[in-house]
Amino acid sequence: MSRKTAVVTGASSGIGAATAKALAEAGFDVVLGARRVDRLAEVAAACGGTALELDVTDEDSVAAFTAVVSRCDLLVNNAGGAFGLDSVAEADIELWQRMYDVNVLGTARVTKALLPKLVASGDGQVVVVGSIAGHQPYPGGGGYNAAKHAEAAVTRVLRMELLGQPVRVCEVDPGMVETEFSVVRFEGDQERADAVYAGMTPLTAEDVAESIAWVATRPAHVNIDQITITPRDQAGAQMVHRHQ
Ligand code: NAP
Repeated sequence: MSRKTAVVTGASSGIGAATAKALAEAGFDVVLGARRVDRLAEVAAACGGTALELDVTDEDSVAAFTAVVSRCDLLVNNAGGAFGLDSVAEADIELWQRMYDVNVLGTARVTKALLPKLVASGDGQVVVVGSIAGHQPYPGGGGYNAAKHAEAAVTRVLRMELLGQPVRVCEVDPGMVETEFSVVRFEGDQERADAVYAGMTPLTAEDVAESIAWVATRPAHVNIDQITITPRDQAGAQMVHRHQ
Protein backbone atom coordinates (compact mmCIF):
# COMPACT_ATOMS: atom_id res chain seq x y z
CA MET A 1 0.00 0.00 0.00
CA SER A 2 1.35 3.48 -0.82
CA ARG A 3 2.24 5.77 2.05
CA LYS A 4 -0.27 8.36 3.19
CA THR A 5 0.54 12.05 3.07
CA ALA A 6 -0.06 14.37 6.03
CA VAL A 7 0.01 18.15 5.72
CA VAL A 8 0.84 20.05 8.94
CA THR A 9 0.47 23.83 9.09
CA GLY A 10 2.53 25.84 11.57
CA ALA A 11 5.13 23.06 11.66
CA SER A 12 8.18 25.29 12.31
CA SER A 13 7.82 25.10 16.11
CA GLY A 14 5.83 23.79 19.05
CA ILE A 15 2.88 21.47 18.54
CA GLY A 16 3.15 21.54 14.73
CA ALA A 17 6.82 20.52 14.69
CA ALA A 18 6.21 17.73 17.22
CA THR A 19 3.17 16.57 15.24
CA ALA A 20 5.14 16.41 11.99
CA LYS A 21 7.69 14.19 13.72
CA ALA A 22 5.05 11.98 15.37
CA LEU A 23 3.20 11.51 12.08
CA ALA A 24 6.43 10.63 10.25
CA GLU A 25 7.10 8.02 12.94
CA ALA A 26 3.56 6.72 12.42
CA GLY A 27 4.37 6.13 8.73
CA PHE A 28 3.09 9.27 7.00
CA ASP A 29 4.92 11.25 4.37
CA VAL A 30 4.75 14.73 5.88
CA VAL A 31 4.45 18.11 4.17
CA LEU A 32 5.26 20.96 6.54
CA GLY A 33 4.12 24.56 6.11
CA ALA A 34 5.00 27.79 7.97
CA ARG A 35 6.50 31.22 7.32
CA ARG A 36 9.97 30.70 8.89
CA VAL A 37 11.40 28.43 6.22
CA ASP A 38 14.80 27.99 7.89
CA ARG A 39 13.18 26.59 11.04
CA LEU A 40 10.79 24.56 8.92
CA ALA A 41 13.65 23.00 6.95
CA GLU A 42 15.29 21.83 10.18
CA VAL A 43 12.11 20.12 11.35
CA ALA A 44 11.55 18.61 7.90
CA ALA A 45 15.10 17.26 7.85
CA ALA A 46 14.57 15.66 11.26
CA CYS A 47 11.49 13.77 10.07
CA GLY A 48 12.26 13.22 6.39
CA GLY A 49 9.47 15.58 5.39
CA THR A 50 9.03 18.32 2.79
CA ALA A 51 9.23 21.95 3.91
CA LEU A 52 7.16 24.49 1.99
CA GLU A 53 6.69 28.17 2.79
CA LEU A 54 3.15 28.94 3.89
CA ASP A 55 1.37 31.96 5.29
CA VAL A 56 -2.18 30.85 6.07
CA THR A 57 -3.34 34.48 6.14
CA ASP A 58 -2.32 35.01 2.51
CA GLU A 59 -4.59 33.62 -0.24
CA ASP A 60 -1.77 33.46 -2.79
CA SER A 61 0.55 31.67 -0.38
CA VAL A 62 -2.16 29.10 0.43
CA ALA A 63 -2.84 28.59 -3.29
CA ALA A 64 0.86 28.11 -4.09
CA PHE A 65 1.32 25.73 -1.13
CA THR A 66 -1.71 23.56 -1.82
CA ALA A 67 -0.98 23.43 -5.56
CA VAL A 68 2.23 21.48 -4.96
CA VAL A 69 0.60 19.06 -2.50
CA SER A 70 -0.33 16.30 -4.92
CA ARG A 71 -1.88 13.98 -2.36
CA CYS A 72 -3.46 14.70 1.02
CA ASP A 73 -4.82 12.03 3.36
CA LEU A 74 -4.52 14.05 6.56
CA LEU A 75 -4.58 17.79 7.18
CA VAL A 76 -3.54 19.12 10.59
CA ASN A 77 -4.66 22.75 10.89
CA ASN A 78 -2.30 23.83 13.63
CA ALA A 79 -1.02 27.27 12.55
CA GLY A 80 -2.36 29.86 14.96
CA GLY A 81 -1.82 31.65 18.19
CA ALA A 82 -2.72 34.53 20.47
CA PHE A 83 -1.59 38.15 20.33
CA GLY A 84 -1.87 40.07 23.58
CA LEU A 85 -3.99 39.66 26.69
CA ASP A 86 -5.98 42.88 26.57
CA SER A 87 -9.38 43.47 28.10
CA VAL A 88 -12.28 44.32 25.82
CA ALA A 89 -12.03 47.91 27.10
CA GLU A 90 -8.41 48.09 25.95
CA ALA A 91 -8.79 45.88 22.88
CA ASP A 92 -6.33 46.39 20.05
CA ILE A 93 -8.74 45.69 17.19
CA GLU A 94 -5.94 45.07 14.72
CA LEU A 95 -4.60 42.25 16.92
CA TRP A 96 -8.11 40.78 17.19
CA GLN A 97 -8.35 40.83 13.41
CA ARG A 98 -4.97 39.09 13.11
CA MET A 99 -6.08 36.39 15.57
CA TYR A 100 -9.26 35.80 13.59
CA ASP A 101 -7.32 35.73 10.35
CA VAL A 102 -4.69 33.18 11.39
CA ASN A 103 -6.82 30.88 13.57
CA VAL A 104 -10.19 30.93 11.81
CA LEU A 105 -9.70 32.08 8.23
CA GLY A 106 -6.31 30.35 8.02
CA THR A 107 -7.93 27.04 8.90
CA ALA A 108 -10.79 27.74 6.48
CA ARG A 109 -8.45 28.69 3.61
CA VAL A 110 -6.22 25.63 3.85
CA THR A 111 -9.12 23.23 4.48
CA LYS A 112 -11.10 24.60 1.55
CA ALA A 113 -8.12 24.27 -0.78
CA LEU A 114 -7.24 20.70 0.25
CA LEU A 115 -10.76 19.27 0.64
CA PRO A 116 -10.96 17.90 -2.93
CA LYS A 117 -7.72 15.95 -2.33
CA LEU A 118 -8.88 14.77 1.10
CA VAL A 119 -12.12 13.44 -0.43
CA ALA A 120 -10.25 11.91 -3.38
CA SER A 121 -7.96 10.02 -0.95
CA GLY A 122 -10.98 7.88 -0.05
CA ASP A 123 -10.03 8.05 3.65
CA GLY A 124 -9.29 11.67 4.48
CA GLN A 125 -8.99 13.29 7.87
CA VAL A 126 -8.89 16.87 9.14
CA VAL A 127 -7.52 17.61 12.60
CA VAL A 128 -7.95 21.14 13.92
CA VAL A 129 -5.80 22.26 16.83
CA GLY A 130 -8.24 24.42 18.77
CA SER A 131 -7.84 25.22 22.45
CA ILE A 132 -9.66 25.09 25.75
CA ALA A 133 -9.80 28.86 25.09
CA GLY A 134 -12.31 27.90 22.39
CA HIS A 135 -14.68 26.59 25.06
CA GLN A 136 -13.83 28.55 28.22
CA PRO A 137 -13.54 32.34 28.10
CA TYR A 138 -11.28 34.18 30.53
CA PRO A 139 -10.60 37.85 31.33
CA GLY A 140 -8.10 39.25 28.83
CA GLY A 141 -8.82 36.38 26.45
CA GLY A 142 -11.54 38.14 24.42
CA GLY A 143 -9.78 38.28 21.07
CA TYR A 144 -8.24 34.82 21.32
CA ASN A 145 -11.37 33.29 22.92
CA ALA A 146 -13.50 34.68 20.10
CA ALA A 147 -11.13 33.31 17.45
CA LYS A 148 -10.84 29.85 19.02
CA HIS A 149 -14.61 29.65 19.65
CA ALA A 150 -15.10 30.50 15.98
CA GLU A 151 -12.52 27.94 14.89
CA ALA A 152 -14.35 25.31 16.98
CA ALA A 153 -17.63 26.27 15.32
CA VAL A 154 -16.13 25.95 11.85
CA THR A 155 -14.72 22.52 12.78
CA ARG A 156 -18.13 21.30 13.93
CA VAL A 157 -19.86 22.69 10.85
CA LEU A 158 -17.29 20.94 8.66
CA ARG A 159 -17.95 17.61 10.39
CA MET A 160 -21.66 17.94 9.65
CA GLU A 161 -21.16 19.08 6.08
CA LEU A 162 -18.86 16.15 5.33
CA LEU A 163 -21.23 13.51 6.69
CA GLY A 164 -21.45 10.84 4.01
CA GLN A 165 -18.06 11.71 2.54
CA PRO A 166 -14.90 9.72 3.34
CA VAL A 167 -13.39 12.47 5.53
CA ARG A 168 -13.20 12.48 9.32
CA VAL A 169 -12.96 15.68 11.35
CA CYS A 170 -11.41 15.98 14.81
CA GLU A 171 -10.86 18.92 17.16
CA VAL A 172 -7.90 18.67 19.54
CA ASP A 173 -8.10 21.24 22.33
CA PRO A 174 -5.00 21.61 24.49
CA GLY A 175 -4.73 23.48 27.74
CA MET A 176 -1.34 24.92 28.73
CA VAL A 177 1.50 23.71 26.51
CA GLU A 178 4.98 25.19 26.85
CA THR A 179 5.92 26.19 23.29
CA GLU A 180 6.64 29.57 21.71
CA PHE A 181 2.93 30.38 22.17
CA SER A 182 3.35 32.71 25.18
CA VAL A 183 6.51 34.35 23.78
CA VAL A 184 4.52 35.19 20.65
CA ARG A 185 1.52 36.31 22.71
CA PHE A 186 3.69 38.71 24.72
CA GLU A 187 5.71 39.93 21.72
CA GLY A 188 9.01 38.33 22.72
CA ASP A 189 8.81 39.10 26.46
CA GLN A 190 10.43 35.85 27.69
CA GLU A 191 10.05 36.73 31.38
CA ARG A 192 6.31 37.27 31.01
CA ALA A 193 6.03 34.08 28.98
CA ASP A 194 7.94 32.06 31.60
CA ALA A 195 5.63 33.37 34.34
CA VAL A 196 2.69 31.66 32.62
CA TYR A 197 4.18 28.25 33.48
CA ALA A 198 5.80 29.17 36.81
CA GLY A 199 5.35 26.58 39.56
CA MET A 200 3.32 24.17 37.45
CA THR A 201 4.07 21.41 34.98
CA PRO A 202 2.65 22.28 31.55
CA LEU A 203 2.10 19.88 28.67
CA THR A 204 4.88 19.48 26.13
CA ALA A 205 4.29 19.79 22.41
CA GLU A 206 5.03 16.06 22.20
CA ASP A 207 2.14 15.27 24.59
CA VAL A 208 -0.29 16.90 22.16
CA ALA A 209 1.41 15.44 19.08
CA GLU A 210 1.01 11.95 20.52
CA SER A 211 -2.77 12.47 20.74
CA ILE A 212 -2.92 13.77 17.17
CA ALA A 213 -0.95 10.77 15.89
CA TRP A 214 -3.32 8.47 17.80
CA VAL A 215 -6.35 10.17 16.22
CA ALA A 216 -4.72 9.87 12.80
CA THR A 217 -4.11 6.15 13.14
CA ARG A 218 -7.61 4.99 14.17
CA PRO A 219 -9.43 2.72 11.70
CA ALA A 220 -11.18 4.54 8.83
CA HIS A 221 -14.68 4.10 10.28
CA VAL A 222 -13.73 5.66 13.65
CA ASN A 223 -14.11 9.43 14.04
CA ILE A 224 -12.64 10.94 17.19
CA ASP A 225 -14.76 14.05 17.44
CA GLN A 226 -13.03 16.09 20.13
CA ILE A 227 -10.18 15.73 22.61
CA THR A 228 -9.41 18.09 25.48
CA ILE A 229 -5.94 17.61 26.89
CA THR A 230 -4.66 19.56 29.90
CA PRO A 231 -1.81 19.25 32.39
CA ARG A 232 -2.70 17.61 35.70
CA ASP A 233 -2.00 21.04 37.22
CA GLN A 234 -4.78 22.69 35.20
CA ALA A 235 -8.52 22.27 35.82
CA GLY A 236 -9.84 25.17 33.74
CA ALA A 237 -8.62 27.88 31.38
CA GLN A 238 -7.50 29.94 34.37
CA MET A 239 -7.64 27.39 37.19
CA VAL A 240 -4.05 26.34 37.70
CA HIS A 241 -2.36 24.67 40.65
CA ARG A 242 1.05 26.23 41.33
CA HIS A 243 3.49 24.43 43.60
CA GLN A 244 5.04 26.42 46.44
P1 NAP B 1 4.05 28.13 18.54
O1 NAP B 1 5.24 27.37 19.02
O2 NAP B 1 4.09 29.61 18.57
O3 NAP B 1 3.70 27.62 17.07
C1 NAP B 1 2.83 28.31 16.22
C2 NAP B 1 3.07 27.85 14.80
O4 NAP B 1 2.14 28.49 13.93
C3 NAP B 1 4.47 28.19 14.32
O5 NAP B 1 4.99 27.11 13.61
C4 NAP B 1 4.23 29.38 13.40
O6 NAP B 1 5.20 29.36 12.35
C5 NAP B 1 2.85 29.03 12.85
N1 NAP B 1 2.18 30.19 12.29
C6 NAP B 1 1.83 31.34 12.91
N2 NAP B 1 1.26 32.19 12.05
C7 NAP B 1 1.27 31.56 10.84
C8 NAP B 1 0.85 31.92 9.54
N3 NAP B 1 0.29 33.12 9.30
N4 NAP B 1 0.99 31.05 8.53
C9 NAP B 1 1.55 29.83 8.77
N5 NAP B 1 1.98 29.42 9.97
C10 NAP B 1 1.84 30.29 10.99
O7 NAP B 1 2.76 27.73 19.41
P2 NAP B 1 1.98 26.32 19.61
O8 NAP B 1 1.60 26.27 21.03
O9 NAP B 1 2.73 25.21 19.02
O10 NAP B 1 0.65 26.64 18.77
C11 NAP B 1 0.11 25.74 17.83
C12 NAP B 1 -1.41 25.79 17.92
O11 NAP B 1 -1.82 25.34 19.20
C13 NAP B 1 -2.02 27.17 17.74
O12 NAP B 1 -3.18 27.07 16.93
C14 NAP B 1 -2.41 27.57 19.16
O13 NAP B 1 -3.49 28.48 19.16
C15 NAP B 1 -2.78 26.23 19.73
N6 NAP B 1 -2.77 26.11 21.19
C16 NAP B 1 -1.64 26.34 21.91
C17 NAP B 1 -1.68 26.22 23.29
C18 NAP B 1 -0.48 26.46 24.16
O14 NAP B 1 -0.63 26.62 25.38
N7 NAP B 1 0.73 26.49 23.62
C19 NAP B 1 -2.86 25.83 23.92
C20 NAP B 1 -3.99 25.60 23.16
C21 NAP B 1 -3.93 25.73 21.79
P3 NAP B 1 5.82 30.65 11.61
O15 NAP B 1 5.92 31.74 12.64
O16 NAP B 1 7.14 30.12 11.15
O17 NAP B 1 4.88 30.94 10.49
